[in-house]
Amino acid sequence: MSFLESLFSLEGNAAIVTGASRGIGRAAAIALASAGASVVLTGRDESALRETQSMIGPNERTHCISGDVKDPSHAMETISTTVRTFGQLDILVNNAGIIRRSAAVDYSAHDWYDVIDTDLNAVFSWSQAAGKLMIEQGSGKIVNIASLLSFQGGLNVVAYSAAKGGVAQLTKALANEWAKYGVNVNAIAPGYMETNATAALRADTKRKEQILSRIPAGRWGEPEDLAGAIVYLSSSASDYVNGHILAVDGGWLAY
Ligand code: NDP
Repeated sequence: MSFLESLFSLEGNAAIVTGASRGIGRAAAIALASAGASVVLTGRDESALRETQSMIGPNERTHCISGDVKDPSHAMETISTTVRTFGQLDILVNNAGIIRRSAAVDYSAHDWYDVIDTDLNAVFSWSQAAGKLMIEQGSGKIVNIASLLSFQGGLNVVAYSAAKGGVAQLTKALANEWAKYGVNVNAIAPGYMETNATAALRADTKRKEQILSRIPAGRWGEPEDLAGAIVYLSSSASDYVNGHILAVDGGWLAY
């Protein structure tokens, strides 16, 4: 293996990706498997997880566990199954997330708690459970999926912005405590990506064009645009990168 290959190789590593049933999580799982990792795929939709598994291919080492990311016992079960099946846990990608749109004055308590529980509280509970194990083994990579709304307030997405702002701060706080144990905690802030989560936004042609006109790259992102960042932050190439929020946004934040 060349120096470059060994920097980015994930051979012998075991990863968990939450929300691997479609979109960014699916692309992350495929990228990690392509770099050599064994991957545990989680999400609520068992048949969609199987689809991701079949896209990765029969020769790769994968395992599906369905469940709700908000359920702490699902986190514990997934982590212990990963260790039982693949011998260790090296990488956790906290990707599962939801968005609910409504003006702040009308925002329901139900949506507020659902978004905060899914997008922020679950990131903490999965990170804490994985972090304990990684600290003990003296190595590990946690990659949180943040957002442009970790930096900006957005419109009509008050809970999402609060949660993703929290994800960025959580990333830095955990990175500070765990760097000395060889555990890297970082995040990726994707720009506007063509996935299920942005379907409603893209259906509004005027808003879609407004957004497009502000992206220096001149196009919306595809989940596959995140593959390089996922592998980088999961591999030894990023061993001295801690608490960083890496924007992969076609230049949106620089504009
Ligand atoms: P999708 O809606 O396509 O995918 C969301 C994923 O999260 C699905 O796999 C879904 O699985 C899973 N999920 C949602 N809720 C739960 C739950 N309660 N328990 C378990 N799994 C859950 O969205 P994206 O791929 O776009 O989003 C992925 C991440 O990227 C999210 O954190 C999102 O906030 C973030 N992001 C997306 C951007 C975009 O432009 N698309 C931009 C910035 C950040 P299932 O429904 O099967 O359970």
